Amino acid sequence: MQLQTILNRVQKHKSFVYGATRWTVVKNQPGIEIEIQARKNGRPLCSGCHTPRPGYDRLPVRRFEFVPLWGLFIFFLYALRRVDCPRCGVTVEEIPWAEGKHQQTTTYRWFLARWAKRLPWNQVAHAFGTSWDAVYSAVLMAVVWGLEHRRWQGIEAIGIDEIQWLRGHRYLTLVYEISSGVKRLLYIGKDRTEQSLRTFFHLLGTKGCAALLYICTDMWPAYLTVSREMAGRAVQILDRFHIMKKFNESIDQVRRDEARRMQQQGYQPVLRHARWCLLKNPDHLTPTQATKLSELMSYNLRSVRAYLLREEFQRFWQYKRPKAAGRFLDDWCKRAMRSKLEPIKKVVGTLRRHRELLLNWFVAQGKMSSGAVEGMNNNAKVVMRKAYGFREFRSVEVALYHTLGDLPEPIFAHKFC
Ligand SMILES: [Zn+2]
Repeated sequence: MQLQTILNRVQKHKSFVYGATRWTVVKNQPGIEIEIQARKNGRPLCSGCHTPRPGYDRLPVRRFEFVPLWGLFIFFLYALRRVDCPRCGVTVEEIPWAEGKHQQTTTYRWFLARWAKRLPWNQVAHAFGTSWDAVYSAVLMAVVWGLEHRRWQGIEAIGIDEIQWLRGHRYLTLVYEISSGVKRLLYIGKDRTEQSLRTFFHLLGTKGCAALLYICTDMWPAYLTVSREMAGRAVQILDRFHIMKKFNESIDQVRRDEARRMQQQGYQPVLRHARWCLLKNPDHLTPTQATKLSELMSYNLRSVRAYLLREEFQRFWQYKRPKAAGRFLDDWCKRAMRSKLEPIKKVVGTLRRHRELLLNWFVAQGKMSSGAVEGMNNNAKVVMRKAYGFREFRSVEVALYHTLGDLPEPIFAHKFC
């Protein structure tokens, strides 16, 4: 079987044929060059208006990198024609395998972009003998295409979340779709201001806003205000993930204060290395953390009291009816207020202020993918970690959309990966 036969099977071009092939060496590695020729009767397309036009002249031969095969670099060789277009003037012809001035074929760029969903970008570059910039440019192409072609119809539930970006208090606003069965990142706002969220609702449009049934957020006032203002008919929900995050912050505060006080008073440092055994879900503790936790339980510590209050509160999420859940909530708040733990009392205040939104959790049960915001938040964190060192907002944005946006791709005759 000839190489041309394989190429015609995986990537055939209507007005061009594959010609002679020869060996080459690139970066000390073997490669194959394949000539491409235009069919004799085919007229070149003007890249300005996509119309067949008479030829003008030919440019020197250019090399286009294709998907590597068996550890060999693969290149197409082609001398682009210039066309004499009555509308656009003299322009370079349009070719089906590459766009603009790119040295890599479109197929190869989609190949890199797909791998970049599975591996960090520098590893993709390393694996295929290309540069980080080439991978970035491929991903950017995929994201731009995906954003242009995605559809926003039928969005019933969204989750609004924030994620830390760079060091210090820089945040991004993330909006996910969490309709049942659908999980994808819809929007990234620089900052977590009212304006950054309002832009999302504007993009969604009046109709889209009116179609929203559920909005899951944390208690960030900017998010609550804008959601109410822009999609007033949707049920607002404070979701479990964000509430439990508040609990963990307060337990951590109690632990830090207590550890400091114990150290000042010369007590045994029992709270050292206790952070995670107090914060993690007890089912997920490592054996060492579990031992540490049971050791802590034998002391009458404020941290342990805070921990137990949170564990007790977990029962709240198991209720089925809002009314019963509300009774539990009020009871729990009363007890927690007597705990004399200031950070916990602060949580109580927050819960009481948002009682109605909190109980909406039970109204919406089963009607959106629960746990979706937490899952997406974890994935976003992984992306951010992998993207560590991206200083530009644009690269972070591209990485997040690429991995979490569930963006559409063009349909190819052949799947290369
Ligand atoms: Zn033209």
